Amino acid sequence: MSIDLAAVAADKGITYFLISYTDLFGAQRAKLVPAAAIAGMQKNGAGFAGFATWLDMTPADPDLFAIPDPASLIQLPWKPQVGWLAADLWMGGAPVLASPRLALKAQIAKAAALGYTLKTGVECEFFLTTPDGLAISDAADIQAKPCYDEQALMRRYDIITEICDAMLSLGWAPYQNDHEDANGQFEMNWTYDEALLTADRMAFFKFMVKSVAEKHGLRATFMPKPFANLTGNGCHIHLSLWQGATNAFDGGADITDLAKNFIGGVLSSAPAMAAITNPTVNSYKRINAPRTVSGATWSPNSVTWTDNNRTHMIRVPEPDRFELRLADGAANPYLLPALALAAGLDGMARRLDPGPRQTNNMYTEGHLVVGTPPKLPLNLLDALRALEASEVLTAAMPELVPAYLKLKHGEWNDYARHLTQWERDTTLDC
Ligand SMILES: [Mg+2]
Repeated sequence: MSIDLAAVAADKGITYFLISYTDLFGAQRAKLVPAAAIAGMQKNGAGFAGFATWLDMTPADPDLFAIPDPASLIQLPWKPQVGWLAADLWMGGAPVLASPRLALKAQIAKAAALGYTLKTGVECEFFLTTPDGLAISDAADIQAKPCYDEQALMRRYDIITEICDAMLSLGWAPYQNDHEDANGQFEMNWTYDEALLTADRMAFFKFMVKSVAEKHGLRATFMPKPFANLTGNGCHIHLSLWQGATNAFDGGADITDLAKNFIGGVLSSAPAMAAITNPTVNSYKRINAPRTVSGATWSPNSVTWTDNNRTHMIRVPEPDRFELRLADGAANPYLLPALALAAGLDGMARRLDPGPRQTNNMYTEGHLVVGTPPKLPLNLLDALRALEASEVLTAAMPELVPAYLKLKHGEWNDYARHLTQWERDTTLDC
């Protein structure tokens, strides 16, 4: 064991550790462990009842152990006596392969066996709302086109800079913060890195943003579409595949054939991927949404790719990477890159041709695209059925996909049982 967490605690003044894992629905679970007990936890893990979280387990199952990854340690910038640790899940002496962090590690290992390393950068949009989540927190933030609004950005200076200062101190190399396209919406960008590191940082970022917002008396939400008339929370991810220090996607004037094959794989699996990249009932109120007050949804509606054009699902802003614009703020930090990598590796193995790049405005001219590209699923159930039918993704994650489908079908059925006001409004007089 190269990192002794007990020694690190003594050295850095850490008195408690949060041993944290992300479940299949993206919820973060943790135990708060005193530093005096960390040595045993580092070896054996912290015990949990797996069924009590979103994992495919039963109440009769034995203890689930979350074994912390010492390399993931982050001292909470707003409470430095606490050290946060991402953990991998084990049960009965075996890794839980139907868990997000281990699923990502498995895909990373497959890429490594071929000589490749995935690097990712994520753009996690969020709203700052009132504590009840029912309204944006800034009553003066009312512009019809509020993107990059200087005044509204600076009214949230204290929160945004507290988070950005934290990222600076943690060495994430953040480089810009802005007010996004919806009233009350923000985005903060830090530098891309290897996929597991970015995934751990994304999990921590969501925790940090929520924590700092609460400290300031507000609430932060990454919910895909919290307000029907405003642009939703996307989670765009930029991907590149590396061989050592060489970016295997960077072809100079254009992306390489390898990158095109990777994109071909993502396009081929996209409708099935949506079940995980857009994992909630609410997600589909962002995908295929009507025009928002700002003039555009900025979310894709069809399975298309392009150069530098934000109306398509995949954008190639520069010839060194591509941006997948499908995922939303509810996407699991680990399953998002795991899935993209699984689909991309399939595209590489089959040398899939992504077809022609589109150059149109998909929001106004999508119906004119020759060959009628597939539409993204219209709701979570359609997406789950597409995932169910995906031999590629099931073969890539044979433990995780069935477990995920089982739990998500349960969620869909729970939703479908709800009687809504809309039904009363449209059906009372039938
Ligand atoms: Mg954005």
